Amino acid sequence: MKKHLLFLGAPGAGKGTQADLLSKANSYLHLSTGELLRKEIEMNTNLGREVKDIITSGELVSDELVLKIVRQNLDKDNNGWILDGYPRNLSQAHSLNEVLIEINQPLEVVFYLDIPEEVLIKRLLLRGRKDDTEKTIRKRVDIYKKTTEPLIQYFKELSLLEYINADRDLNTISFDIKQKMA
Ligand code: AMP
Repeated sequence: MKKHLLFLGAPGAGKGTQADLLSKANSYLHLSTGELLRKEIEMNTNLGREVKDIITSGELVSDELVLKIVRQNLDKDNNGWILDGYPRNLSQAHSLNEVLIEINQPLEVVFYLDIPEEVLIKRLLLRGRKDDTEKTIRKRVDIYKKTTEPLIQYFKELSLLEYINADRDLNTISFDIKQKMA
């Protein structure tokens, strides 16, 4: 059974939902950088105040800052982990690689949730999170295409990529993922 996983895909592809189900079923840590950042905002910490406007605008937070959060969380005792929303660009992918070498926990699989753009924009509008206005959604999808999408090729070349058709119902997708975990 694989223990060190990553979910890749556009905003709205269902990474959070699938990572949540899988982490609960296996007692793994679910590390969503977006979720961790939103908590900081809610708790009104220094970090939260620093990132609030950036997140609201749909831009990416600095690589340095998210790396710090990821490192802190990977350090916690765990039975396995699932990264969701990290890395978002090649520089983050390289930093992650260094951290994983340090802690001697190599990444075993990257689930790429693939979904057509029109479907995900509809999904995001329905979700209605604070940063889910039409303007920021377009911005996040644009940034995803420019900076995150190249990671598909990056992980493919490392033979880590598992393609998942994410334009199906939740249970079908999660069944597909479970089968590919073995
Ligand atoms: P998410 O919940 O993954 O959609 O993330 C929500 C927001 O948090 C993003 O639009 C970014 O502003 C920020 N964020 C989350 N993960 C990262 C990351 N790996 N790098 C930079 N910014 C991030």
